[in-house]
Parts: sequence; structure tokens; C-alpha cells
Amino acid sequence: MMIPISDAIRIVLEQTPKLVIESVPLSDSLGRILAEDIIADTDLPPFDRAQMDGYAVRAADVSHPPARLRIVGESAAGSGWHHEMKAGEAVRIMTGAPVPVGADAVQQVELTREANDGNEVEILERVEVGRSIVRRASEIKAGATVLRAGEDINAAMIATLASFGYSQVKVGRRPRVAVMATGSELVDVDQKPGRDQIRESNNHMIAPYAALAGATVARLPLAVDDTEQLKRQIAQAAEESDVLITSGGVSMGVYDFTKAALKELGAEVYFERVALRPGKPTVFARLGNTLVFGLPGNPVSVAVTFNLFARTALRAMQGATRPELIEETAVLARDLKGAVERESYLPAVLRTDEKGTLLAEPLKWGGSSDFVAFARATALINVPTGVKMIEAGSPVKIVRLPS
Ligand code: AMP
Ligand code: MG
Repeated sequence: MMIPISDAIRIVLEQTPKLVIESVPLSDSLGRILAEDIIADTDLPPFDRAQMDGYAVRAADVSHPPARLRIVGESAAGSGWHHEMKAGEAVRIMTGAPVPVGADAVQQVELTREANDGNEVEILERVEVGRSIVRRASEIKAGATVLRAGEDINAAMIATLASFGYSQVKVGRRPRVAVMATGSELVDVDQKPGRDQIRESNNHMIAPYAALAGATVARLPLAVDDTEQLKRQIAQAAEESDVLITSGGVSMGVYDFTKAALKELGAEVYFERVALRPGKPTVFARLGNTLVFGLPGNPVSVAVTFNLFARTALRAMQGATRPELIEETAVLARDLKGAVERESYLPAVLRTDEKGTLLAEPLKWGGSSDFVAFARATALINVPTGVKMIEAGSPVKIVRLPS
């Protein structure tokens, strides 16, 4: 039975267990999925902070410039002036330094002039109360939740984690993925293909896609189209991995043995045909505790089905709040044909026009075997079931390809 893509994704999510949580050093946290809420342990800023180099003053003292004030001290970043500043006084202050009690504004140094051998300063322009001061806790109050479990950790978030003292951070464990290419025509990348042979390329794409999704990847030897050999390799891979991803051998051909091998091993098969173009013969199964994605052989189908299904599972395992590719809307740059019985995800290049509109330009390609053309794709355009044709200028749903 052929099931809709949305059902297939729902089934994948239902069958995907969450892996345990582990603690990693902050410097290893990029790209991981946060497994704890992050709480501010201090106010930010932790004190009233100067935003400019200049002089801390009382605004009322300088309302009729020029105004001469006595310099009573200096407040530098990391070493403040901790006395009360009185009327008629000024404190020399640097960016990032605490503003002394009694001051209510900072006048930037360019609008001042030192006088009387550096004992006094002339403030050349007035300044309103609060100017160039970032008030304590105006960004974050201690105790606030600043990041949530399930978010993807990016470089900027690591600064936030560092600010609140998270030298170790809890994340979902990396899924262990095994990749296995099947097909008697395949040779390794360092071999010259003989008659009727081609170089194996799918694993070389699946492995980095899986790594982008947070997994560690083991590559299995190439498998020929032989049920017994497939069974041995699949059984062994299942022992050592959370997820096994095969490619090839799931169509209707005489030598398509992947499904037979899975069934003979006693795997539970959840679906084996999805109403998707390209990627109809995608298999999802479980063998023991290992999830198995039996992807089609054609490289573009592999990219599409990996990112719709396997990526979603890998991210859900790590606790991602949004495991799926995120849908956006773009404007179609050229007419595009759909399929009557299947939902399509067709490769496209995204660009913006001079008005700032996001355009999706369908790739000119030779079909699901044309991985050389696909290498330029940055997104997939969704064409719903039953839509024969979408005209240029229409809004379309797109997902960006991870890269
Ligand atoms: P299959 O689904 O096994 O019939 O494969 C469909 C097409 O994809 C065939 O032309 C295969 O040669 C090709 N193919 C299958 N696996 C790979 C692979 N790992 N690398 C490159 N091409 C492949
Ligand atoms: Mg094959």
C-alpha cells in the first residue's frame, strides 16, 4: 500500500525512541540538540554599564553647556569606581565599565575636553538622563529561561551558554548510523569501474547528511544483490547501530532483495511505498532496536527520502523540538509539472529578485538519477498530490536542503 508522506513522517516519529542524554564540554556542543532548559544565573548586564568611552555625569549638571566638572575618579572595565559621585563631579569611564552611583548619564569622550591638567573636564553638549547606560538586568533577569531543551545549538547560542556558566551542557546522545549501499554494479570510489559497473556514490552523500543531522556514521562494505549476503550484513549492522540506512534494492526488479532480506530476518516493516516523487519505494522498518531506512537506489531519491524521513528520525532521537525540515514559502520562477498520484519534492535553486522576493527556480535535470545536476540544488519544491501543473509566479512550499 502506498501511504501519504505526512503519514510516513508520523509513523517514523511514532517509532523513533529518544536516546539518552549526555553531558559534553561547551566547545563540543555546536550542532547538538539541547537536552536541558538554560537558566540565567546572573542579571545581564550584572551592573549599570557604560556603552561609550567618556564621562559619567549628572545630566542636570550639564544642562547649560559648556559645563566644567571636577574629575574625581576613573571607572574601567573590570575595575570600577565604587564611591558616590556628587553634584559637580565627573568620573572618567570606559565602555563596559560600571557606572558609579550618583551618575545618571555618560557623555561620549568626543563631546568633552579635558581642562586644568586633567583635573577637570568640560562637557561640550548636554546629555539626557540614561544616555549611554545599559541598565542592570535590562537584557536578562537572573532566573529567566533563556534557551529551551530541544533547540539546535548554534554558534551564537554557545556565547549565551558561556555567559551563564555552562562549561558542560546536556545534549541528546549522537545516534550511531550505519550506511550500506547495495547493488552488484557498484565499486568503491578508488576503483576504476569495469564493464557494466559504476562508482558507489550514495553513501558518500548519506554519511555527511547524517553527520549534519548529528549522527556518527559507520560505512559498511558494499553489498552485492544476494539475499543471504544482505541478511548477514544487515543483521551485523543492526547489532552495532541505532539506525541502518541502506540504498538500492527496494524497487520491483528481479534482483531487488533488500526488503526480502529484512523480512526474512524478522524485521517489522512499517511502510514500503510512499506517495512521493522521487522516492516511492522507500522502506521503513525496525530490526530489534535498530530503525532501518531502506532508501531507493537513485541518488536524488536518496537525498529526498533521507532528508524527509531519516533526518527527521535522527533529530527526534536527540530530542529536537522541530525534527523535520522547516517549510517556507517562495515564488515559483518557472512552470512546474506535478504528479497526479504522488506528492513531489523537486530540486530547486533559491534566489531573491530585485524586489526582495524569494524565488524558487526548478532545476533543469534529467530525473532522479541526475545527481550531477542535483549538486546545485539548495531546496526542494513541494507539489501537492493531484496538482498537474503550477504556473510561474505562484506561491509554493519549499524546504531548504541541509548543506
Ligand atoms: P536500484 O534501486 O537498486 O534499482 O537502483 C536504482 C539506480 O540507482 C540504479 O541505476 C543503480 O545503479 C543506482 N544506484 C544504486 N545504488 C547506488 C549507489 N550506492 N551509488 C550510485 N548509484 C546507485
Ligand atoms: Mg540495485
